[in-house]
Amino acid sequence: MLLGIPKETHPGENRTAVTPETAKKLCRLGADLQIEAGAGEGAGFQDAEYSDAGATVVSDREALISSADMLLRIRKPALEEIASMKKGCIHISYLDPFNEHELIARFREQGVTAISMEMIPRTTRSQKMDALSSQANLSGYVMVVLAAMNLPRIFPMMMTPAGTLKPAKIFVIGAGVAGLQAIATAKRLGGRVTAFDTRPVVAEQVRSLGGTFLEIDLGETGEAAGGYAKELTPEQIDKQREAQKAVIAESDVVITTAQVFGRKPPVIVTRDMVEGMQPGSVVVDMAAETGGNVEGSVPNEIVQVNGVTVIGYGNLPNFVCRDASHMYASNLFNLVDDCWDEEAKAFSIDLEHDIQSGCVITHAGEVVNETIAKLQA
Ligand code: NAD
Repeated sequence: MLLGIPKETHPGENRTAVTPETAKKLCRLGADLQIEAGAGEGAGFQDAEYSDAGATVVSDREALISSADMLLRIRKPALEEIASMKKGCIHISYLDPFNEHELIARFREQGVTAISMEMIPRTTRSQKMDALSSQANLSGYVMVVLAAMNLPRIFPMMMTPAGTLKPAKIFVIGAGVAGLQAIATAKRLGGRVTAFDTRPVVAEQVRSLGGTFLEIDLGETGEAAGGYAKELTPEQIDKQREAQKAVIAESDVVITTAQVFGRKPPVIVTRDMVEGMQPGSVVVDMAAETGGNVEGSVPNEIVQVNGVTVIGYGNLPNFVCRDASHMYASNLFNLVDDCWDEEAKAFSIDLEHDIQSGCVITHAGEVVNETIAKLQA
């Protein structure tokens, strides 16, 4: 089976879907590997390392895409690229299938099997393939580092002959994978951390990291299928905003990571709340690119709102692209390995497979994922 790894072309994207280490493992499975020249460069991997691992480095991107039996990448392809893929080609990447209707339609029309890394079920067995978690974990770390770099104060308490500095107060809203890592990182830096999440089960996790869980009685909240948060009603959101107001006003840093899977993220920090913070305080909105948890955040920019620094950078794992590549590539290899037919030396499509039943979106000219099929109808 010929596996192709095109260079990522999204502006600023430095991660790569296959590292020399996973290239070697893929070759060991019996796959033939072609990688576009320079595909690992952004993350610090040289072409020669891929050659040493057993891959063939090629410069003709079009030929690579049109001849591959399987394409491995991070970002979705350009629509024109799909037209040149072979019928029956398997394409694995992030796809944002809830929003990318045309992309999914093109995959279906072309007879390409499209696998979405976002749709890998969040089960214990699939943890090693779960790129949403591996990348969110790094995002949590990066958000705190960005906040610390932009805060005109330090995080830890410091008692010195020159005086005592109080620890910075950090409020983390949304304590899923990214939020929990943000809490852990802020604690390691010596900050005083408070956190809130709509899933009550998270309270214990926050406390175990040394954070304080902000109790807000929102009535029925809980979890939907897959452990994801249920969407709040407008009344519950109002209640949440009101209850967080005082904590936000006295925080030096607010980090928001609130997401509801498949929906637009909720706006939970309003402009007046940002304006109520001390000048010099920092807000990091992880959802800025997808609609924003914070009113006034601007995707991929740092803006000042009444003296408060609001950070709206997207693609946070890209700041630590080498580790992010290692983790994504390992998730991707584990998926391929799990679905690999040793005799045929090929990725075997099986729509009954516990993981493929969640993440295969199109196959043999059909949208086979039920949730996405309904959205496409
Ligand atoms: P996510 O990115 O979908 O959401 C981030 C957090 O935002 C979640 O904790 C969610 O509860 C919270 N949130 C939503 N609305 C909010 C609001 N209005 N205010 C505050 N917080 C709000 O979630 P995630 O980090 O990807 O993880 C979601 C769940 O999946 C968690 O339960 C996690 O433990 C579980 N999970 C399981 C596995 C596994 O078993 N393999 C792997 C990863 C995650």
